[in-house]
Amino acid sequence: MVFPQRTFTCGELTLSNREATVVLNGWVHRFRNQGGVAFITLRDRYGTTQVVIDERSPAGLLEQVSCLKSEFCLAVSGTVKARPETMRNPKMTTGEVEVVAREVQVLSSAPTLPFPTEDDNKANETLRLQYRYLDLRSTGMKDRLILRDKVTWSTRQYLHGLGFLEIETPTLIKSTPEGARDFLVPSRVNQGKFYALPQSPQLYKQLLMVGGMDKYFQIARCYRDEDPRVDRQPEFTQIDIEMSFVTAEDIYSMMEGLMAKVFSDGIGYDLKTPFPRLAYDTAMELYGSDKPDLRFGMPMKDFSVFVPGSGFSAFESVLETGGLVKALVVKGAAEYASRKKIAEWEDAAKVYGAKGLASMKVIAGADGQPTLDTGVAKFFATMSEGILRELEAAVGDVILLVADQPKVANTSLGAVRLKAGRELGLAKAGEFAFAWIVDFPLFEFNDELKAWEPAHHMFTMPQARFLDTFDTDPGPVKGDLYDLVCNGFEMASGSIRIHDPAIQQRLFNTVGYPEARAKERFGFLLEAFQYGPPPHGGIAPGLDRLVMVMSGQENIREVIAFPKNTLGASPMDESPAMVEDLQLKELGLKVVEG
Ligand code: ASP
Repeated sequence: MVFPQRTFTCGELTLSNREATVVLNGWVHRFRNQGGVAFITLRDRYGTTQVVIDERSPAGLLEQVSCLKSEFCLAVSGTVKARPETMRNPKMTTGEVEVVAREVQVLSSAPTLPFPTEDDNKANETLRLQYRYLDLRSTGMKDRLILRDKVTWSTRQYLHGLGFLEIETPTLIKSTPEGARDFLVPSRVNQGKFYALPQSPQLYKQLLMVGGMDKYFQIARCYRDEDPRVDRQPEFTQIDIEMSFVTAEDIYSMMEGLMAKVFSDGIGYDLKTPFPRLAYDTAMELYGSDKPDLRFGMPMKDFSVFVPGSGFSAFESVLETGGLVKALVVKGAAEYASRKKIAEWEDAAKVYGAKGLASMKVIAGADGQPTLDTGVAKFFATMSEGILRELEAAVGDVILLVADQPKVANTSLGAVRLKAGRELGLAKAGEFAFAWIVDFPLFEFNDELKAWEPAHHMFTMPQARFLDTFDTDPGPVKGDLYDLVCNGFEMASGSIRIHDPAIQQRLFNTVGYPEARAKERFGFLLEAFQYGPPPHGGIAPGLDRLVMVMSGQENIREVIAFPKNTLGASPMDESPAMVEDLQLKELGLKVVEG
């Protein structure tokens, strides 16, 4: 197709281009025909420019453009003119000029759109995903993809600046368990055999270290066949990083520099480094989460000492069975915390297994002194002074209590802390509170399978003090592993790796991979570790989550050009889909009904 090609974008013209003859290409953002004069707001990725068709345009053009509709794609030729003083918009780059059209060529037309492209996020999400290419025309989606590009670009700049090599690793690999379920790809050439899509490039990046690459990164696509969840995608992107001859300290400072640069380049935000560090156990005790939102404080406290002798038997019996009672003081929330609100908070606690949420308020008593009131206050009246001192509670505060085994008490009251803190506006949009969570347990016990599992993945080094005992007494073992968290999200996790094949095999034994099984699955890694592997470690920030947090979104689909929906499907191309019988035959596969 021969068409007038743009000489400027739609976000570029200013008074300095006055009287220039220009060509613009773009979409009809808005079209107004006012009889005798028509205005087209022409849009492309760079902005919008006002095009006018009036008596200065050739005869007949006004009539010709009357067929225009939103989202037609046009080539417009014309002359740049200053807008009349009263119609200038100094807030827009192109707001002081307009293009008086000489020629308007329709490059392609469009029917009425299924939703207006102007309203970011407002249309039904299924529709947005079905017509994602139209959704991408909205300013919101466009800006977020631009931010994503800035983040990947500054990541590349930063890491190259530190001497990292960007190296690709395969996406058709051997199924090597890494925590989640693998997506499998049947091989046609080797019938009956399967590739797996990588859950992450973990083993390859370690092998790159064995290969002497020293500092590696990759903007890597990862695939995990997990049950769909609101904020989960079957495929997602990591900034995958690995370094040789390092300790955790080196990883921390490299990552702090990366985050500082990305936030500064991406959204002009100045991150303070180094980031605070919090031991996993402390994070659980204070915030009930290994990814606490630290934009606000409100730490939980242990209330157990006040329980014996209170007469509140529900609490007393929990203590007798090894549990504890945790307290959360919600500052100044006495009025906000209606009965209905407390019931809502209780529901949030119950999601994490709490049986209930007890409460009391601090009011000014008859003598003007702070006094406990409502809820379970009557049990603690005689201890009120000590309680108020210990909890640092004052008039107007609400005290929330959960009694349970430590894990349930911490996580459930932690969930209430998060909900209440966010509701009360304590977690400010546009603020970013990073922290390292360190000293994680290396293993978790799977109650269903009655087996130890790696808390992160099975290539993580136990901390040195556990090297002798990690396989005989896995419970207390801490790993050389770290998470980077921000605003209640896990932004990255990583570890110092095992590079000794004997330690690796002992760890495999602990998590259910005795020698023969480990050799079958990970033989190539164990073999590589025979050949002088360097000490190494790494980390992998999730790119989608990072851009989501930076752009203030709450779901990663908002920062992915073509995401899957919450059921792992794409309403646009309708994947996953059936395939031809012939395709199955070639693969030697048969679909067995339900
Ligand atoms: N491969 C790990 C993950 O995807 C990250 C790492 O340990 O570097 O969680």
